[in-house]
Amino acid sequence: MREVIIVGSGPAGWTAAVYVARANLKPLLFEGDEPGGQLMTTTDVENYPGFANGIQGPELMDVMKKQAVRFETEIISKHVVSIKKIEGGFEVATDTDTLQSKAVIVSTGASARRLGLESEKELYGKGVSACATCDGFFFKDKEVIVVGGGDSAMEESNFLTRFASKVYIVHRRDAFRASKIMQERTMKNPKIEVIWNTEVADILGVNEGRVTGVLLRDTEKDETREMKIEGVFAAIGHEPNTKLVEGLLDLDEKKYIKTIPGTSKTNIPGMFACGDVQDAIYRQAVTAAGSGCMAALDAERYLAEQGD
Ligand code: NAP
Repeated sequence: MREVIIVGSGPAGWTAAVYVARANLKPLLFEGDEPGGQLMTTTDVENYPGFANGIQGPELMDVMKKQAVRFETEIISKHVVSIKKIEGGFEVATDTDTLQSKAVIVSTGASARRLGLESEKELYGKGVSACATCDGFFFKDKEVIVVGGGDSAMEESNFLTRFASKVYIVHRRDAFRASKIMQERTMKNPKIEVIWNTEVADILGVNEGRVTGVLLRDTEKDETREMKIEGVFAAIGHEPNTKLVEGLLDLDEKKYIKTIPGTSKTNIPGMFACGDVQDAIYRQAVTAAGSGCMAALDAERYLAEQGD
């Protein structure tokens, strides 16, 4: 039986691996289906401390991985299909192997909901984004649209007005689901205009390799029209990757893993959660990395208490 298995390879998982490895607990980390997680689809990361000139998302994940490997983290590039509680620990299985450990750190992240368009995939990171905090800065004096009608759409559009010359919120209905206060703040912002009852049917610019416009569909009249725009931000929610632990760990109403506040501890002793899979609020690489450190320290203390 191993000491610690880490499931997930974003900033939380790699940070946990570095700390667990440096505590001489020989971590095994499963990279999963999407190694590196959300940062792999981000271009410039300018808000991760330590990189004065910024760094590309995939490069940041690569250096984090190298750091974990340097301390002899064992890596398996496979997707975990189940985690079970067994006597004295846990059983972690892929479709081919089953391994056991005394503690498990879950860092499977979250995925931004996508509009589901082929053009969205092609232009992701080339004008299409799901994170205004990450990418807003690149849209100085440009016109952008934000899709969605929840608190995220309000927050992201207000944030984007710091950079963009104009922000259009494109919402599929005639009312927002966002909180009243966020709606009011949004409606008062002179740089924001709302396009009601409208969906993004397509994003234009695939041939140019950058967003040049969108095809909008009026959901009431079922009419389409083209609109010139340089940026598209989808703010239509996130989904935590918790299918693996559903039924095993306590989840909140939005299916994020519940942790004891101020710790990475879940309802099951020996199982810890870090990163976006337990964080619906901050969702930053640096907060994920910080919580990965917490999970490693919590796991180390747990193992010490178990008499290891
Ligand atoms: P959300 O509340 O689930 O809202 C998602 C929005 O996207 C909805 O307006 C929905 O439209 C729209 N949408 C969903 N799928 C779509 C699609 N395929 N095409 C077009 N539109 C689509 O998600 P959220 O705004 O990310 O908020 C998540 C949670 O975090 C909420 O509880 C929110 O209160 C909280 N939050 C709080 C703050 C804050 O307080 N500062 C900031 C951000 C988020 P419909 O309305 O038609 O369903």
